[in-house]
Amino acid sequence: MPWIPDRAPRVGNDMGEAIMKGSVEVGVTDSLSSSLLSCAALAPCRRALVLGGSTEARMLTACIAADPRLEGVISLAGRTSAPQAYDLPTRVGGFGGIEGLTRYLLDERITHVVDATHPFAARISANARAACAAAGVPLLVLTRPPWAPAQGDRWMEVADNAAAARALGVAPRRVFLAIGRQGVSDFRVAPQHDYLLRVIEPPNVDDLPPSCEVIFGRGPFALEDEVALIRDRRIEIVVTKNSGGALAYAKIEAARTLGLSVVMIARPASGDAATTHDIDAAMAFLAS
Ligand code: NAP
Repeated sequence: MPWIPDRAPRVGNDMGEAIMKGSVEVGVTDSLSSSLLSCAALAPCRRALVLGGSTEARMLTACIAADPRLEGVISLAGRTSAPQAYDLPTRVGGFGGIEGLTRYLLDERITHVVDATHPFAARISANARAACAAAGVPLLVLTRPPWAPAQGDRWMEVADNAAAARALGVAPRRVFLAIGRQGVSDFRVAPQHDYLLRVIEPPNVDDLPPSCEVIFGRGPFALEDEVALIRDRRIEIVVTKNSGGALAYAKIEAARTLGLSVVMIARPASGDAATTHDIDAAMAFLAS
């Protein structure tokens, strides 16, 4: 793709947004704001790679497409058979590990990478950290904040799927497995439970525990529908990943409403890349 030089720069009011480095929050200062403003007027066009697969990636690509200072490519893993359209040129499929991603960054003259993958997509995020370091390309992680327990919530917080399967206990229970299809095989070690698995794409049948009903659904889900589903299926406990965000939160509220326990699977470690929850901060990063 040809390199398009800078066009009329446009700088939004986003320079004061916070970016987090690891767990430490770093404010973008006024003086940095001024230097970003002058850089934006002088610098060549930025070429962003957005690693996608999340709502945040979709929102960011719309902002990039509307910003004349920026070119961008969105990258999808290719897990979804009919992905929704994006506002940017889209590439699909793995890069071939760290080495392949490093080569891609250099060959495509990528100037900035935003890792806007799902918070549980640990491998591509680790690869992005390593490849960006190798290629000398700045990286920002854009992710939604995790959910925190509210009053009335009965959460069992666990580290991973294996711990979630153990947390269900020995006695048979009716379990709402709201984790998507990835990792469902980890619950085959607890075959005494009756599972209700909700997915977007069909799971591999060999991955399912022996007693498992599969239903299909894509968020956003309404609270009343989640309450009705849990009641109708006589669910006794909910298992979910701590994905965060509004689209999938209703099941947590439904469990709270019905006084059910939730086994909450914690996010995988995210390394020390600079991180933000804010689209405007990601746009400020891309303009830097
Ligand atoms: P993963 O385990 O972190 O990644 C596995 C491999 O898939 C990566 O090594 C990479 O292959 C490729 N890949 C992943 N995301 C990619 C992307 N955006 N562009 C190009 N290649 C990508 O990922 P996952 O958990 O299987 O998730 C796959 C995708 O689904 C992610 O993009 C994620 O945002 C989305 N998603 C995941 C979840 C979840 O719960 N894990 C939920 C919703 C959506 P190479 O090594 O060959 O580059």
